[in-house]
Amino acid sequence: MSLQVCEIFFSLQGESTRAGMPCAFVRLTGCNLHCRWCDTRYAWDEGRPESIEQILRHVRAFRPRRVEVTGGEPLIQGETLALLKALCDEGYETLLETNGSLDILPVDRRVIRIMDVKCPSSGCHEHNRWDNIPALTARDEVKFVIATAEDYAFARRTVASHHLLGKCPVIFSPAAPALAAEHLAQWILSDRLDVRLGLQLHKIIWPGRDRGV
Ligand code: SF4
Repeated sequence: MSLQVCEIFFSLQGESTRAGMPCAFVRLTGCNLHCRWCDTRYAWDEGRPESIEQILRHVRAFRPRRVEVTGGEPLIQGETLALLKALCDEGYETLLETNGSLDILPVDRRVIRIMDVKCPSSGCHEHNRWDNIPALTARDEVKFVIATAEDYAFARRTVASHHLLGKCPVIFSPAAPALAAEHLAQWILSDRLDVRLGLQLHKIIWPGRDRGV
């Protein structure tokens, strides 16, 4: 039983409500989508097989408090569910970054699920799996990557129609380089929208580094 692993590293959380906190990352290989704004294209096909025990050994060496499993899209690999359970069993605060197109229900209940809702300019919004939304809990998070005014209007409508603000933290992130953070900030403030502006902290700290951060 093994997983295709693109990279394992220790860094600061760049996104989510835990932005700025130390975290071990397990980036798995492969994705079922091809979003226009994808900044981890190397994870689509680069990787090597590792058993869950090998992954756990890598992670333990960092002595982290939290671990995020990301991609690519982690849930396209069947063994990901067992990896998430094993990380929870080891006592890590365990996060999963998922693109929102696949069923999140089988994921261990202890895992914090950070789920994308894809906006129109990504070219992948028709893959949003709306059945996931009722499964979200207050521990989970929803993220919209926004590149255009149309994306913003879509995100705003989705937040309202699915009552997301009463459910879990909602993050709006500007898609670099298409949308300046300042514009998105202004839209949020003008609309008095109680969402969190998410900036990719790792890109501010380590500009030009696209791996291992
Ligand atoms: S879902 Fe994520 S990893 Fe996959 S193509 Fe989109 S942005 Fe890239």
